[in-house]
Amino acid sequence: MKKIALIAHDNMKLEMIQFVKDNVKFFSQFELIATGTTGTKIMEATGLTIERYKSGPLGGDQQIGADIATDKIGAVFFFRDALTAQPHEPDIMALIRLADVHKIPMATNSSTAKILLKGLQ
Ligand code: PGA
Repeated sequence: MKKIALIAHDNMKLEMIQFVKDNVKFFSQFELIATGTTGTKIMEATGLTIERYKSGPLGGDQQIGADIATDKIGAVFFFRDALTAQPHEPDIMALIRLADVHKIPMATNSSTAKILLKGLQ
């Protein structure tokens, strides 16, 4: 089974943690990867094991993009903060682009995340 990737911008981290907590049984079935801080916070809150990549601004989005390009990722839950400028905007765009190129389902907010999760169940 392919991995699931989790990313949340700072203003969205609490929402992401709550989402994973609410669906911990689902996520426990998968191998999980995440950008650095997102992964640490989710692990602390849920006890799940998550492979952590670099923090987003330090290259974590690009690492996840590379995994998409090499067919290792089955879905991405990416809680974006669309109201705040991000220093790594080009990396974010590249990640979204690669998900589209490879037709990887990606949820970019909590509403699409709920639907994606149902689709994967
Ligand atoms: P982080 O990276 O999980 O290390 O905060 C996510 C981001 O801000 O892109």
